[in-house]
Amino acid sequence: MKFSDLGLSSELLRAVAEKGYDTPTPIQRQAIPAVLGGRDVLAGAQTGTGKTAAFGLPLVDRVDFHSRDTQALVLAPTRELCVQIATDLTKFCQFEPAARVVAVYGGANIGTQIRQLRQGAQIVVATPGRLIDLIGKGAIDLETVRFTVLDEADEMLNMGFQEDITEILSHTPEDKNVWLFSATMPREVRSIAEEYMRAPVELTMGRQNEAANNLEHHYYVVHERDRYAALKRLLDASPDIFGVVFCRTKIDTQQVAEQLIRDGYNADALHGDLSQQQRDKVMDRYRNRSLQVLVATDVAARGIDVRDITHVIHYHLPDESENYTHRSGRTARAGRSGLSLALVNVRELEKIRQIEKKINAKFHLSRIPDALEIGEQQLLNFIRKVHEVEIDEGGVEQFTEIAMHELADLSKEAILKRIISLEFNRFINYYRNAPDLNVDLAHQGKQRQDRYRSNGPKVFINLGTVDGFDKGRKLGYDCDITGLKGADIGRIELKGVYSFIEVVDEKMISVFEQSFQGEFHRGRPVRIERTGGEEGAGSKKKPKDFKDKSGFSGTPSHKDRYQKSGYPKKEFVGGKGPYPEKQN
Ligand code: AMP
Repeated sequence: MKFSDLGLSSELLRAVAEKGYDTPTPIQRQAIPAVLGGRDVLAGAQTGTGKTAAFGLPLVDRVDFHSRDTQALVLAPTRELCVQIATDLTKFCQFEPAARVVAVYGGANIGTQIRQLRQGAQIVVATPGRLIDLIGKGAIDLETVRFTVLDEADEMLNMGFQEDITEILSHTPEDKNVWLFSATMPREVRSIAEEYMRAPVELTMGRQNEAANNLEHHYYVVHERDRYAALKRLLDASPDIFGVVFCRTKIDTQQVAEQLIRDGYNADALHGDLSQQQRDKVMDRYRNRSLQVLVATDVAARGIDVRDITHVIHYHLPDESENYTHRSGRTARAGRSGLSLALVNVRELEKIRQIEKKINAKFHLSRIPDALEIGEQQLLNFIRKVHEVEIDEGGVEQFTEIAMHELADLSKEAILKRIISLEFNRFINYYRNAPDLNVDLAHQGKQRQDRYRSNGPKVFINLGTVDGFDKGRKLGYDCDITGLKGADIGRIELKGVYSFIEVVDEKMISVFEQSFQGEFHRGRPVRIERTGGEEGAGSKKKPKDFKDKSGFSGTPSHKDRYQKSGYPKKEFVGGKGPYPEKQN
C-alpha cells in the first residue's frame, strides 16, 4: 500500500515525499482513512510506530486554513514531544501558506507564547499544564476546536494531568473528533475514551508493530558494585553506539554522566534539574550527533524522537514496568532495528519476568563482554573506519611518499602491529586482567536452592551471637557437647539470641536433645527444639511464641523453666532478656 492510496491531498503527498516517507506504517495505513472519514480513533500505539504522521497528515488535511480559528488541539505530555509534533505538523503543512502551528509548553516564556497565539494558529500543540495557564489568562479560545488529539495519553495520566485534561476538554465543543494514542491502555485511559469519544475505531498495533519486532531485549546479571564497569564494557563493545542510558534518579543520571565524561566517553546528562537552556543544548548536541551517549531520566527523555538511536541501556530498570516501553521505544523506530539492554542484579531478576509479561516479548540473557570480545569489536570498528575514510589523494600524496620511505624497513605485518599498538595500547592495558563481570547464575541458583530446598532436619537452640558465638565457635561447641563431627552438621544460621543448626540426619536431633539435656551455657539453661521439616530452612520458623526483639528469648515453657531454675539475672550473660528477678 502506498500513501497515495490513503486519500490524502496532493499537497500532503508532496509533503510526505519531502519528509522522505516511502510507505505508510501499519498505524498510518489504518488511522489515516479513519480520520479522513470523520471517525474518532482510539489507538494503542507505541512511540516509533509513525503515530505522529498517522494523526498529523489527515489532521492537516481536514483543517481549513482559510480560517484563522484554532481548529485543532494536540495535547502531549512533555515539552520535547510538543516540539517534535509541532515540527512534524509544520512540515506536513508546508504547502499551505496560511497554515500556522504553535507549540505551547511549560519552561518557556509564556508572554512569547501568548503573542504567538494572538497572531492566530489553526493548530495548537500543548502540554496540559501550560494550556491551563493560557486558558486562565484568556490567551486562547477553544470554542472553535474541531479536532483534539491526546498523544501518549497514558503518559499524561501518569504525570498527573487527568484533571487538567478534563478541564481543557470542557472548554472545547462537544461535537469534535477525538483521536487518542496511547502505548498502554490502562482503565483510566479507557474511561477518558468512553467519556469523550464517539464509537471510535479501535486500532492496536501490538505485536504486528514493525518497529517493536525489530527491537531486541537483552539483560545482563551483574553484582551491584560492577554496574558502572559493566556499562562501560557495553559501551566499549559497541564503539559506534548512538544510545540513551536510562537511570532511575536525577542524581544517578548526573553521576553516571559525569563519570563517563571523566572516563573519556562522549556522554552528557539530561534530567529535570538542568535548566531548560541546558537541556536544549544537550538535546541539540545529541540530535546533531556530536554527542554519542545521552544519560537521562525517564521524565526528561520522554517523547524524544531522535533518528537511528542504536541502543537503549537501562542502567537501572524503571520503577514502573510501563516506563520500560517508553524507554525502549526510543530505539527501533520506523522499521529500523534496535537493542534494549538492561543491567540487573540478582534481586532484580523478577522484574525482568514482570516486564516480559507486560510487553509480551522475551528477554535474552546475555553476557557482559570480556576483554577479547571488546577488543575485537574495537578493532573491527577501526578497520571499518580505515575502509570508509575518504582519501584526499592530492593532500596525502607527499606524506604517503615520506611514510613509505621511512617505513621501508618494516613488513606490512610489522606496520599493522605498530598501528594497532598505537591505537589500542591504552585500551589493552585497561582490560588486561579484566575480571568476568557476569554473575554466575547457576551457582547463585544452587545457593538459593540450597537455602530454600532444605526441608531437612534442623534444631533450634537458644544460643546466638549475644552468647559470644560466631559460626566457627558454635560448630566447635556443638560438636564438643554432642560428640558429632563437623561433617554431620550443615548450615548454621546464627542470630542474636538463637540459632538454627542443620543436621545431616534426623537421628542427630535426638543426639542434640540428649546431649544438651541439663546443659547450661554461661549459667543459662540451653534449650534444644526440633524444627525444620516441611517448613524448610528458608522459612526460618521459630518455635511458637518466640520473641527475640522484646528480649524474651524463649517459649513460655522455657521461661517457666528458667524461672524455676533460680538463676539470677546478673548471671545471664546474654543480658538483654528482662528475665524476672528471682524472688526469694
Ligand atoms: P513517531 O512514532 O510518530 O514518533 O515516528 C517515529 C519516527 O518514524 C519518526 O522519526 C518519523 O519521522 C518516522 N516515520 C513516520 N512515518 C514514517 C514512514 N511512513 N516511513 C518512514 N519513516 C516514518
